[in-house]
Amino acid sequence: MKPKLIAIGYWKSIYEPELPDPANFIDLNWNTNEKNIVLQHLKKGKPIAQWMGTSWCRYRCKENDMGASCLTDGKYIYPEKLSHYINKHNVRLPDTFIKHILNYKPLNILADLNNYDVDYELWRKELGFNNTPNVNTYLALTDDEIEKFNERKKADNNI
Ligand SMILES: [Zn+2]
Repeated sequence: MKPKLIAIGYWKSIYEPELPDPANFIDLNWNTNEKNIVLQHLKKGKPIAQWMGTSWCRYRCKENDMGASCLTDGKYIYPEKLSHYINKHNVRLPDTFIKHILNYKPLNILADLNNYDVDYELWRKELGFNNTPNVNTYLALTDDEIEKFNERKKADNNI
């Protein structure tokens, strides 16, 4: 059996509506020290996979540098610019992940994602903290993309 990586920080879109919404993970009062430790940890991850294209911010905040790869610390796998949501949109990550970081001892990291199984189940079940401020997120980078997606879906259903 292959070793497992736990996915975290992959947000919902029209293509993956079952993933969590960053708006449910907002915490304006997150302890700054802890937040900085998490940001430092995320930055030190090792690139292990590439996207088909570049990622985009679910808040459409016009940030262009959202990265194109996935990083790992040997136990978790996350998008390269997950830190953007923490820095710019007050997202806090689940407690189990923060505990993992606070107790982190460097792990051996295999070279290729094919050496691992990625577990998305835990992340899909994450509900956030139920303290959502009135902030909307988007399911695609542009309304046009959402419209085209819905039209394609409608056409497929009519066949
Ligand atoms: Zn943003």
